[in-house]
Formats: sequence, structure tokens, C-alpha cells
Amino acid sequence: MNTKDNKQNRVLVTGTMAFDEIITQSASSGRVIGGAATYISYSSSFFSNNIYVSSIIGNDFPLSFLEEMNSKGISTEMIEIAKEKKSFFWKGEYKNDFNTRVTHDTQLNALELYKPNLNKGLNDFRLVMLGNLEPGIQMEILSQVRNDDKFIILDTMNYWIDKTEKKLFEVISKANLIVINDEESKMLGKSDSLQKCAEYIMSFGPQYVIVKKGSEGAELFSKKQKSVIPAFTIKKVVDPTGAGDSFAGGICGYLSSRPKINFLEIHNSMIYGTVIASFCIQEFGVAGLQKLSAENVNERMLTFNEYLL
Ligand code: AMP
Repeated sequence: MNTKDNKQNRVLVTGTMAFDEIITQSASSGRVIGGAATYISYSSSFFSNNIYVSSIIGNDFPLSFLEEMNSKGISTEMIEIAKEKKSFFWKGEYKNDFNTRVTHDTQLNALELYKPNLNKGLNDFRLVMLGNLEPGIQMEILSQVRNDDKFIILDTMNYWIDKTEKKLFEVISKANLIVINDEESKMLGKSDSLQKCAEYIMSFGPQYVIVKKGSEGAELFSKKQKSVIPAFTIKKVVDPTGAGDSFAGGICGYLSSRPKINFLEIHNSMIYGTVIASFCIQEFGVAGLQKLSAENVNERMLTFNEYLL
């Protein structure tokens, strides 16, 4: 499924690269590598070898991990290293059989210093995936991308909706597709109806909204159409962290491999996103994605497609 390396289908992925500490009802992860850009780029790499990550890491982040990303066809040359700072850190806990996530700690650390500067000559992208990050930085990155026909996918999180809602709506107005979870869509849309929230968000500019509903799957809205995709059921969930980012990464990677992006292709991309996310939640952190092969993805795609029919 890998696309040929040419300018026409370059993908820019931005978001946090982080250390996470995750507590579930049965185990604790200790410090593991996480972050939105990490999950997204790994997941996209199953469909494209033309992924460029723009992010920042601290002095504690293992450089061997960047080498591993390179080995998967992910370019890390735009990842900055803040020598005086630690990496972004997030600590979360899952309760009620993974239905509730509580954030215990968010330390911005290196992210506070992040001033994106897309390398000259590397600012022409067909698809821009704005993963979870401070909306001002998302906006700055967008302003540096040259291609006027770029397709922009945006993700965000309750943390930024609480802190920077006004700035976030500026980025929303630039995006083509928003991927958010049900709780976040209700925060943004100020309604209990997902349909009304999606309509409200689309009134700012985006043509498409995907609302993720965890184990209940996801819904896709445009002004004229709607579709629903169930989740792929996993018997033993270990850690749902990164499921949303892996879902978005699968969507982004799949769309980058398609000649046109429209409602049907976005619907199809959600099937790939769902399958990738189902592997992510089988292990703590990115471990489930690190050992994943294209064969594993294709095999599960067949099972999921049979289920959908
Ligand atoms: P997800 O489970 O898909 O929502 O994504 C979890 C990832 O988001 C973790 O690896 C965290 O490091 C990262 N994360 C947590 N809080 C934030 C935040 N406020 N901004 C950006 N990334 C975050």
C-alpha cells in the first residue's frame, strides 16, 4: 500500500512527541513513549512512505526512537531537540472499564519552546495532519505550508478547548476535516446532539467532521451525508491511549494514497483507521504499532470487512 516518494503526496504530521505514564485498573505502564505525532506517523506509515513529522522533543528523548521512525519511512529531519528541556509529559488514568480517562498531569516542557520552522523546500504538502498541539502552533505550521490545495485534517483535545477555544476556532476555520471525540465535540458544539455539534463545527468552514465514540465506533458528517462505522472489538484491551491518534493516522495515511478525497474515501479511510487503532490498544504505548506488519493490517481488514457486510 506504500505510495511512491514524490512531492504530490507528501504528508506533514504535527503533534506532540511525549513521554506518557498510563494507569489502568489492572496495570501501570511506567514511562513509555507516546504523543500524538508519534501515534499518527506510525499509523500513517502503513500507507505512505512520504510522511514528514514536525514536532519538538527534549533532552531525555531516545534518539534511537527517531532512527526507528526513519526505518519505517517517517522523516524526522524537522523534529527539533530542546537541549535545555525535558520532553512533553502526560499522565493519565483509565477508570470504569476504560470508559473514563482522567488526566493527572500535563507538563508542556519542550513544547513551550516550540517555534515551528518548516525547512525551505520542505513546505509543499498535499495533506497536513494537525495532531493534538497548542492551536497557535498548529496555525503557525499551517501558515508555512505553501500548497494552496492542501487537505487539512485537525485533531484537538479537551485541554486545548478549555485553555484556547478562540484560537482553536481560528484553526478549525482553516481545516477540511476535524477528527474529535464525542466529549470534545459536545464541548465545541455546546449541544448533546452529535449531529448539531457537527453542524455547528461545519458552520465555521470544515466540510467534514468525524466524531470518535471509543468502543462505539465513529460517525462521519458532511453537510449532506452521514455514515457510521463500528469499532473493531478487541477481547483484551490493555491501553486505549493513542487509539484516537492511530485512527486519525490511518485516515491520514489512507487518504494520502488516494487520488481524490471525498465523502466516500473518508468513509473508507475510517475502516483503515479503525483497524490500526484496534492494534494500538492491545499493548501499552506504541508497542502494538511497533511490531505491527502490513500483513497483520491486511488480515484484520479482511475480517473487519466481512463483519461490516
Ligand atoms: P489519544 O489517546 O489518541 O487521545 O492520545 C493520547 C496521546 O496524546 C498521549 O500519547 C499524550 O502524550 C498526548 N497528549 C495528552 N495530552 C495532550 C495535550 N494537551 N496536547 C497534545 N498531546 C497530548
